[in-house]
Amino acid sequence: MKYCTRCVLPETHETIIFDENGVCNVCLNNDKKNNISWDKKLEDFKNLVAQYKNKNEYDCIVPFSGGKDSTFTLYKLVNDFKLKPLVVSFNHGFMRKNLLENNNRTFEALGIDHLSFKPNWKLVQLLMKESLIRKGDFCWHCHTGIFAYPMRVAVEKKIPLVIWGEPSSEYTAYYSYDGKEEVDEKRFNRFVNLGISSEDMYGMIKQRKNTEWVKKSHFLPFTFPSRKEMMENKIRSICLGSYIPWNVRSQSKIISEKLGWKGDKVEGVPGNYSYEKIECSVQGVRDYLKYIKRGYGRTAHLVSIDIRNNRLDRETGLGLVNDNDGKKPASLKRFLKYINTSEQQFNEIASEQKIHPYNHEFSSTIEGEPLPDENLYN
Ligand SMILES: [Zn+2]
Repeated sequence: MKYCTRCVLPETHETIIFDENGVCNVCLNNDKKNNISWDKKLEDFKNLVAQYKNKNEYDCIVPFSGGKDSTFTLYKLVNDFKLKPLVVSFNHGFMRKNLLENNNRTFEALGIDHLSFKPNWKLVQLLMKESLIRKGDFCWHCHTGIFAYPMRVAVEKKIPLVIWGEPSSEYTAYYSYDGKEEVDEKRFNRFVNLGISSEDMYGMIKQRKNTEWVKKSHFLPFTFPSRKEMMENKIRSICLGSYIPWNVRSQSKIISEKLGWKGDKVEGVPGNYSYEKIECSVQGVRDYLKYIKRGYGRTAHLVSIDIRNNRLDRETGLGLVNDNDGKKPASLKRFLKYINTSEQQFNEIASEQKIHPYNHEFSSTIEGEPLPDENLYN
């Protein structure tokens, strides 16, 4: 496989292209961060929020998972910008113990109102299996719910400003750092819903056995509000990271100090990256699937961010990738029970989605260690 000569992303990464020196477009896009006039952006942000402050019951909605990005966003908006947000969480069903404890501490420390929504587990089981079969990615309910549900609340409660955390240009090249990224329906269809609308998903599920009970209305939490609904309610949906420079390491430090936020061990990830993706007890399975399809895992993603931001040299990064990526996670066994699928079937489904030129060797796959909290979720 061909790899970026600066970071460690391979040619199978979504949206990647290389320049004549072999440097990828995510790296090149990241360089633009340094040319942005952040003072001006901050002014823009202040002017923007001033238009919404003290106009409604809530100044804005903050979609919240409890990970480092949404926690930092909430902290910043309440502490620095003195906003009164409604915090909205979509509970995908796999929230870990440490995360829930973090959330409690954060909400109490900042003094905010919190709304949490957990969709029907029976439907979630069906959606995970369908999404895995169709796309080799079982997280359709989570991708769509996390983005669509807070927007539905914005429409229903008539709260016209939604503020997300990091912009996608940190990780992919769907949007450029100097362009305007709004979290809208276009973005949703472009890379959130895996190319499956909730209407299509409803049709697919109805073709399966024993799904008479499934109604179209079950899919509302996974459906992004229409353009008409967004326009009528004049809803704006933006990323804080488009207005202030995003630095995951220093931000994790701030929320640890100010809110007692704690990181956690994540399957297939070195211990010094304990701030990343701590919200899901099957994150390891998700990363393993990606590895089978694309030949790189979460460690490659994490070290690439550090290399790009001059916090790590490429050689050390490659060493970490070799030691951590590609292991079979202990949580796979539990996950397979949720969707009533054998490991053989799982491997076949994942292999069907592989991205050329990667080819996964199951016989040489090493088994990963279970997380300390794995047995809590059985
Ligand atoms: Zn790169």
